[in-house]
Order: sequence, then structure tokens, then C-alpha cells
Amino acid sequence: MSKDSRKSSGSMIIISGPSGVGKSTICKQILKQMDNVYLSISVTTRPKKKGEQDGVDYFFLTREDFSKQIKAGNFLEYAEVFGNLYGTPKDKINEMLEKGKIVLLEIDFQGAEQVKELYPNAKTIFILPPEHKELENRITGRGRDDEKDITNRLAGAGREIAESMYFDYKVVNDKLEKAVEEILKIINK
Ligand code: 5GP
Repeated sequence: MSKDSRKSSGSMIIISGPSGVGKSTICKQILKQMDNVYLSISVTTRPKKKGEQDGVDYFFLTREDFSKQIKAGNFLEYAEVFGNLYGTPKDKINEMLEKGKIVLLEIDFQGAEQVKELYPNAKTIFILPPEHKELENRITGRGRDDEKDITNRLAGAGREIAESMYFDYKVVNDKLEKAVEEILKIINK
């Protein structure tokens, strides 16, 4: 796709950060506290975890079907994260931007890079943990991932944090309300 110059009145906000840093909770708070925000639902090949719903948390697809979607050009961006594919469906994004919505993407740094290429005005925000130990506690404490997954995610965190230097803003999620407040200010800037 060429660099985006579509006439749309909406804006794009990208939230990234290591696994367990609290991105989903932050995004839910933003949705609660701001009108006119659309949170994109990603497509993934990773198996559904306990408590997750298809079409709510993600659209869960097989690798084969995900590949078909890639070939059909249906993704704004996609990337492999922890051995699974994740992508942002294009159709809804365009529709919401045209409606003047603030589009919120919770995606990894590889996806953030791709979207920034297409939408140079997108604001990229990287969420940092107060410290590595805290991240470990959060990932282990949420009881969602198995041991192999936890090891993978903790190992990936260092690399992801190094990528934070390419983001427009960095927000430390020490206290949730404070982090959300900071992000709302960035969005409203
Ligand atoms: P989880 O498996 O914990 O739900 O997500 C793992 C990682 O994939 C997180 O860093 C999350 O931000 C990222 N992710 C979720 N959806 C997308 C997407 O559509 N595109 C990309 N590039 N990353 C995504």
C-alpha cells in the first residue's frame, strides 16, 4: 500500500509494549473514559486462551486462513509474535477513520513500524513496566499462559523494550490511573 494520504478526519493511536505490561487494561480504560474511540480487534493464529471470546478478544483463525487473508490484502499490518501470527484487519480501520473516530491499535513493535509507515501522523505510545521483576509477577500472576509461554514472553520483553526508542511517547505503567491519564493527554494533544 502506498503511504497513506486518504482523506479522513479520524486519527490513529498505537499502543505497544511487552507482554504483561497492562496494554489491554489500559485500552479498556481509554474506551471507558473517551467517546469516539474505536479499539481494533486483531486476527490471530494463536490458540484461544481461557476466558477469551472469538470476535471480542481476537478473531481466531487457522494459519491457512490467515495466509489467505494476507494474500487477499486484508491486513493493514501483520507480524509473527511468539510463534503466532497477528494482524490488523484493514476494512474496519478505514471505515472508522472516515467516520472521524480515534482508532486505537494494540499491536507489537513490528506492527507499529508498519502502520507508522502508512500513517505517519499516527501517535505511537510504548508502555513500559516499572521494572522487570514486576513484569514477571504480572505475567505469572494472571494465570493465563503456560510455562513455555511465560519463558518466551519474558525473554522477548528485553528486545521489545529496546524497540521503545523508536516510539513517539513512552509511558511507565506504575499506577494504572496515572498511566491512563498520561495517555489521554497524549491523545488529546
Ligand atoms: P497476546 O498473545 O498476549 O494476546 O499478544 C501477544 C502480542 O501480540 C502483544 O504484544 C500484542 O500487542 C501483539 N498483537 C496483538 N494483536 C496484534 C496485531 O494485530 N498485530 C501485531 N503486529 N501485533 C499484535
